[in-house]
Formats: sequence, structure tokens, C-alpha cells
Amino acid sequence: MPRRFYITTAIDYVNGRPHLGHAFEKVIADAIARFHRQRGDVTYFLTGTDEHGQKIARAAEQAGQEPQAFVDQMSKTFIAAWKALDITYDQFIRTSDKRHELAVQELMRRLSVARSPKTGEPAIYEGEYVGLYCEGCEGFKSEKELDEKGRCPEHRKKPKEIKESNFFFRLSEYDEALLRHIEAHPDFIQPGYRRNEVVSLIKGGLEDVSVSRPSLTWGVPLPDEIEGGEGHTVYVWSDALLNYLSAIGWPQRAYTKWWLAKEGETGGPGAARQDEFQELDGQGRPGAAWAGTGQPLFTNAFHLIGKDISRFHCALWPAMLLAAGVPLPRQVFIHGFILLRKEKGEEAGKGDEGGQKMSKSLGNVVDPVALAERFGADALRFYLIDAVPTDGDGEFSLEMFVEHCNTYLANKLGNLASRTVKLVHNGFAGETPTEWAPESFQDPAVREAFAALTAAAEEAATGVPKAYDEIRLDEALSSAWSAVERANEFVDRARPWDLAKDPARRAELGTALGALLETLRLVAIWAWPAIPSKCETLWGVLGLPGTPGEQRGAAARPAFGAAPARRLGEPVILFPRVDLKAASGAPAAAPKAG
Ligand SMILES: [Zn+2]
Repeated sequence: MPRRFYITTAIDYVNGRPHLGHAFEKVIADAIARFHRQRGDVTYFLTGTDEHGQKIARAAEQAGQEPQAFVDQMSKTFIAAWKALDITYDQFIRTSDKRHELAVQELMRRLSVARSPKTGEPAIYEGEYVGLYCEGCEGFKSEKELDEKGRCPEHRKKPKEIKESNFFFRLSEYDEALLRHIEAHPDFIQPGYRRNEVVSLIKGGLEDVSVSRPSLTWGVPLPDEIEGGEGHTVYVWSDALLNYLSAIGWPQRAYTKWWLAKEGETGGPGAARQDEFQELDGQGRPGAAWAGTGQPLFTNAFHLIGKDISRFHCALWPAMLLAAGVPLPRQVFIHGFILLRKEKGEEAGKGDEGGQKMSKSLGNVVDPVALAERFGADALRFYLIDAVPTDGDGEFSLEMFVEHCNTYLANKLGNLASRTVKLVHNGFAGETPTEWAPESFQDPAVREAFAALTAAAEEAATGVPKAYDEIRLDEALSSAWSAVERANEFVDRARPWDLAKDPARRAELGTALGALLETLRLVAIWAWPAIPSKCETLWGVLGLPGTPGEQRGAAARPAFGAAPARRLGEPVILFPRVDLKAASGAPAAAPKAG
């Protein structure tokens, strides 16, 4: 049976336009989803927008609009951005959708009858809250989370002191259950160093969290069943997190289609049997998802999120799920930030080392749509996937971006493709050579370079899918590019343009070009999750049937050797070199896609 892969991203807050940090996460998620589809996994990719809360209400007011009209308009800018970046999500959820709002109310109902696993006290209680509230974070801050000036380190603003009646979720009593689960499933939180951060956070003690706020109208009202909850709306985090379930049909049983999977069909590591949670939850409540299951299913949801929201996803969310009787996700993968590096000649920021996280409130927004329009969606996708380690932070500046794309796309892959295709057009009238005789290479250095090329391709054929599968996307591309580099070295050694002059060396020429064409075919398959449109163009130029996104199993393995002739397309410049100095200030000179 094929594996089932359910991937979600953070849903973006619509108080501003999409920036490069948003784009980074969606591009990574898209490459992962494409990899799974390419491999034949049944895949569902969810993204969307987070549309409730005070910040939104205020932004709408400033824009002179009703909140709903404001979020309708803002969510469109995200949809348009993801279209411009070729993000192939299956569903775009908006938390102001009625169906989601009803699910949030059902979550609150379930929490209101749940009992905490430690003391059996109600999981939800009403209390007075006095706290420091950062409007930027939409969250309360403890003193120790603030910087030396008493400001939120992220938003560089002092939080407000707020006193109000709130409903609280007894998160403090879920620490042991969470630690037990994390210990039993080391893949639940990845990468490992992030898991350790979460473990110390939980060991340091969790505080109960507010799950409702009075007198904020732009949100989901608490359900009537919760006594004293009139006029309260659900805290934005509890509301937003539920999108991962409401989007796939929760509280209807249908949600298990993606949330859970049969043994052997889970989309990756970290899966837990659903009945494991009965012990953690401590209630064995009838109606819990694991009650009375004949065939136990395994957890299967994969959440891709940024490091700034790991505590919400690794503590609050799983604890709420335990209380609500829902099995946990299979894995939470935490990526880093893109730091914006100052261009040469720009004034360095004060007290700002190297770079800053990109966010709207800091005003250092880079527009991903403008970059994609100017340089092509695939160039931007390539930079975000290849130049940024999937498990850590990366940097962006226009200079670094252009240099990276010129080096790896134009000079390495683009050059290999264009010279190979030209040589086949010149030497074989555009038909792929049928000769295959590696033993005919006269020069030992050429034989050596040939062996290095085929070895690199074999290695990448295993290494690339493994790296994608393990969410090391930058390493997947490095592995693919090592074959590109060996191929370019082989061209330099074999000098096919010289071989073409000597009819007696036609077998050598045919073999050399055959090996290069096969390398290009493989690289188009391996790079497709990252740069789909360019790989499809290359696929067409190589005269291959179907698309690189459909190649799996034997068809995705190296097949160096004699092959029937096929007709190549015309040579194209896949990746035009970008000259930033010539292009700057002259948008008409921007390179064209294709
Ligand atoms: Zn803040």
C-alpha cells in the first residue's frame, strides 16, 4: 500500500502582506509535498491564513474596513503569492470559515468537560488574569522572557499590563504526559536540538494558559455550554492551531483519513499507536478517538513550523489534543529564520549583528512575489531550499541570492544542459546517440572522470530521496549537484567538441553524450521538488515522455547505457546569468523565465 502523507504549514497572520519568511516555509513545505507525490505517496498539503484576534481587528480599523472584508482581501494576497511561487497546496484554510469556527467551538466543549491527567481537576477553569501582554505576539509574556529593557525581544516593545477574567487551560498539569510522549517518540519533535529545547522548556514548568478573552469581538465565541463564557472569544492560538484538524473534517470521523494511518502506511518516522494516548490522557473517556477501535491506527500528521512558535506546537497543541481526546501529530519539524543581511553600502543597523528575523513589525520585509517576478519563481525557490539549511537559520541579501543562482543554476546546471544539448544537435542532428562503449575511452583520465560521474549519480540516486525524506532539503540538492559537478568535470576531460572532429572516435563521443544526457535526466527528477518548472522545461528539451514529477521506482534510477534514439528539443537557456549591476534600476532588463 502507498504511504499517506499529510503536511501542514503554519497559517499566516493576515495583518500584513506575505514576506520572505512566509515564503521560505511554504516553499520548503511544497518541495516536501512534491517529493512525496513524486514517490507515489498519497499526499495532502494544507496551508492557509490565521484571521482572528485583536491585531487583525485593529489593522482592519486602521484600514477603515470591517474585519471580515479586511481578512477577505488580505488572504487573497497570500493566495496570489503562493500561486506566484508554484505552491501546490491541496487546501487553503481560513480561520474565519464557518466550518472552522464550529470546530473550534466543539474543541472548547470537549476541553470544558475534560479532566487534567495529574489531579483530575477540570481542564478548563475561570480565573482572573493579570499579565504582561505583547500585542505583537498576541500572547502573555513572563518577566524572564523580556529583554533587559523590559521589552518583548521579538517586537522590541514593552508589553501592556492587562487584568481581566479569562478561562484557563490547565497546561501546567500536562508536563509529565508530554515528556513521556516525547521520550517514547524521539522523532516527535525534530531536529533533535530543537527537541532538547522543548524538553527543557517543559521541565522548567508549564504555566496554565488563557484560552478565552472577554470583550474582543473579532474571534470565535465560546460555546453557550460554557457557563460564564458569554461575551468571551477563543484565544487566537487555540483557534488557529485547530486548523490542522478542522481542515480535514474534525470533529467528524473523516478527519482520521489524513490524521491517522494504518501500520506501514504512515508518511514518516515518529508514528505512535493511537491507543497510546489513553494512558497519557488519564481519562479513557468514551468518545475519545481511540476508544473502541478495532484496528489501531497510527499518528500521521506532519507539522512544519518556525522556531518562534515551537512552544505552541510542542506543548499547548499536544496538551489540548490529549484533553480533547485526539491522538497527537506524528511529527513537528521546526525550521529556522531567514535573516536579512544588509547589502554593501547600506548603513549597518544599530546593535544588529549580521541580520534580523524578517517580520512585518520590524519593517525589513522583502517581497517574495517581486523577487519571483524579477528572477523567476524557481530561482527564489532554489535559493530558499539550497542556500538555507532546512534545520537552521539562513541569510538573504539580493547579492547573495543572485550569486548563488548564477553559480549553481546558470554556471553549473544551465551550462551543462546547454552544452550537452548543443553537442547532440551538432554531432547527431538532434537525435540522442545510441552508441554505448565506455571501454572505448582512450584517455585514462577520461575513464576516471566517467567512473566518478556514474558513481556520483548512483550515490545521489540513494542520497537525494533519503535527504528529502528526512527533511534535509539542502542536502538533497547538494547531493544532486555533486552529479552535476562530476558531469561538468567529465565534459572538460572528455572534450566532446574535439571527439566530434574525428569520425573514428564516434563511439567515445556517443558514450560521453549519452552519459551527460542520462545525468541531466536524473537531475531533472531529483531537483523537480525544488525547481519544478525549470525541470519540466529541461525534461521537454531532453525529449523525454511524461514529466519528472511522475518518475518513481525503476524509472527514477540511473540507467547509464545504450538506449533507443529520441529526438531532443531545441537548446534553451534554462537559467540566464543575472548581472545585478546591469539589471538594477532597469526592470525591463530582468531575465525572462524559460
Ligand atoms: Zn512580542
